[in-house]
Amino acid sequence: MLSLGSIGKEVENCKKCPLSRFRKNSVPGEGNPKAEILLIGEGPGQNEDNEGRPFVGAAGKYLDEMLKSIKLKREDIYITNVVKCRPVNNRDPLEEEVRVCTTAYLYDQIKLLKPKLIVTLGRHSMHMFFPQIKSISQVHGKAYKKANQVYFISFHPAVALYQASMKETLKKDFKKIPEILRQIDEE
Ligand code: URA
Ligand code: SF4
Repeated sequence: MLSLGSIGKEVENCKKCPLSRFRKNSVPGEGNPKAEILLIGEGPGQNEDNEGRPFVGAAGKYLDEMLKSIKLKREDIYITNVVKCRPVNNRDPLEEEVRVCTTAYLYDQIKLLKPKLIVTLGRHSMHMFFPQIKSISQVHGKAYKKANQVYFISFHPAVALYQASMKETLKKDFKKIPEILRQIDEE
């Protein structure tokens, strides 16, 4: 039977796309299977590839701070990526790699978790669900409902590492999440 665990095992040995050839470890995702919030990043970086776990590098550290600012811990949420293997030199994942990997894994992970809220981290994750949105700058910090699923659009936490001024923007956006969860409950 399909479960988060069985998906994890399949991802570990997956060779469905060429990213499998260059990875050290694939990164299925992890967290609380009963989480209300599912965060979806782009793809593993070097640290994640080394450890087989999502968001364990510098971007992950800042993400932990963002979560803490709304009183959440990693154990409260579930976190994964659009693609489960690291693109060499952290290049953008190709459209075909995204299509193959999400069709094989991400959509099933969403079905199993049934999250109250999906938080997209960065442009790639946003584009998966909202291909028509051109610029994340215009929609970050906003929630959208589509096919009975609520999404919250956030910049990727890595932007805080390149641009210190983005730190506050990221946290300010995240501060809206508790109220969005409350509104979903009231619907
Ligand atoms: N960036 C991502 O998008 N995902 C990770 O797991 C780590 C960094
Ligand atoms: Fe399989 Fe996804 Fe890794 Fe490609 S990126 S090899 S589809 S797990």
